[in-house]
Amino acid sequence: MISYKIKVVFFIVCALLAVNFLVYHAAQTMQADRIDKALENHLNDLQTHYEILLHHQNITAETAYEATVEKPGFIELFSKIASASKSEQTVLRKDLEILVTNIYKRLQKKGVLQYHFVLPDNTAFLRMHKLDKFGDDLSSVRKDFKHVNETKSRMRGFTQGKIAHGFRNVFPLFDADGVHLGAMEISFSSNEFIKYLGEVSKIHTHFLVNKKILDANIWIRDDIVLIYTQSDEHKDFMVTASDEHSSIHCLEGSQELLEEAADEIDEGIQSGEKFSVLLSKDDNLQALSFLPVKNLDTNQTVAWFVSYVTSDFIRMMLQSNKLVRAVLFILLMIVGYLMYRIIINQKRRVLQIRKKAYIDGLTGVNNRNQFDENFEHELLRTKRYKRNLSLALIDIDHFKKFNDDYGHLIGDEVLIMLANDVKKKVRDADTFARWGGEEFVILFPETKKESAQIICEKLRKEIEGLKHPTAGSITVSIGVTSYLDGDTAQSLFRRCDEALYKAKENGRNQVSVV
Ligand code: GH3
Ligand code: MG
Ligand code: MG
Repeated sequence: MISYKIKVVFFIVCALLAVNFLVYHAAQTMQADRIDKALENHLNDLQTHYEILLHHQNITAETAYEATVEKPGFIELFSKIASASKSEQTVLRKDLEILVTNIYKRLQKKGVLQYHFVLPDNTAFLRMHKLDKFGDDLSSVRKDFKHVNETKSRMRGFTQGKIAHGFRNVFPLFDADGVHLGAMEISFSSNEFIKYLGEVSKIHTHFLVNKKILDANIWIRDDIVLIYTQSDEHKDFMVTASDEHSSIHCLEGSQELLEEAADEIDEGIQSGEKFSVLLSKDDNLQALSFLPVKNLDTNQTVAWFVSYVTSDFIRMMLQSNKLVRAVLFILLMIVGYLMYRIIINQKRRVLQIRKKAYIDGLTGVNNRNQFDENFEHELLRTKRYKRNLSLALIDIDHFKKFNDDYGHLIGDEVLIMLANDVKKKVRDADTFARWGGEEFVILFPETKKESAQIICEKLRKEIEGLKHPTAGSITVSIGVTSYLDGDTAQSLFRRCDEALYKAKENGRNQVSVV
């Protein structure tokens, strides 16, 4: 029963582990899907807010463009530049500066970085953000101006130069007769996005620019300083510092997390398309969304907005998953225990039924059913392997008289006494059974007739020595025989019966062998 219990426990543990594995695997897959969905939502959030701001900047630029060209005197002034001498141009530049100063001041408050006028041949005429720099040819460095001057249509988008970058809006300029006069630029800095996303959208972002394009650690202008430092997110990128970041390493402890996701981030950066990554360690859980910013002329990803969001949804999901696993574990333990109880009880019932079928009700030794089973098995074995097999029939002498003298109950007690004694004396390999009434039988596998005779003689003496408190002692007659070639169960029994009969005939209380 103990080894059976171990087997049952082993089976249940294996079954529960398998169930646990399957449920855990399914839960993991579901969890991964949900995390992907949550990350996707964060990424889409970032994109939506970014696009809203782009739209607002578009409107601001449009409005500023209209205010500029509608400014009384602007078109007249600009029309004169092409035919003006160098010294006249100096005067016109100063006049233009004075004319648009108020617009520029208002634009600065709206985050505009560059307010810039260019002639049809792509020569810089006036940079409101850098008044002392003009006259340089921008054909090769600013494809957007070249394009607008050629196509005479508006262009907008991001450009990353060797020193500066900007979200640019370039408009063509015409006089009242539609004659092309050049182009003007209204550009916003990445810091404006970071500020807006942080203050309005409550999304903390970093702006990463590609080191391969950028060639400056710091870009100083009269009113703006853009500082770049190495990005923690990727080795090939620099990150811009802004007021939003008390230091570039604004997320304490993130570097370690970022290192762990380095390969995943690198793969995403190489793809050039938007992607997201989950950083998680202990209680620190960050959903990172990477939004690509493409260069307006090459359409290649040159910069990235990276948002850092502490995802409460993902944290709660991971926590609830832990809870589900704990509940599942407890449930499985309960199911396991119940299974154990059911299987063990079932086994106990089977054993009880078996006991009733194979055990003699009075004496508690094997009954005839058990003997028949063992006898059939041993006989087959003996025949097949040509082994020895002996059989003994034990019959209590004058038992009828016992019953008559002391009553049936005492007779029963004598039967029990004898059965228990013989049971203790026979070997485990032997089968001792109550044959019926006051007769018992012993099967001796691997035993020759002579040995069986010796054993039975010992048993006879042993029984003779037994004493019942009321009835005193009893004697038995024993018939012994052994398997002979060609024997059947019936022939073997018949011979054994003969031997017993002989023992009775010869005066009882003896062993007779045939
Ligand atoms: P013998 O020496 O020739 O074997 O004489 P015997 O009296 O033992 O033989 P017989 O076959 O005439 O009687 C057997 C008796 O065993 C008859 C019956 O009263 C008794 N007996 C059979 N089964 C039981 C039992 O379960 N309990 C009791 N108390 N007696 C039983
Ligand atoms: Mg008898
Ligand atoms: Mg008898």
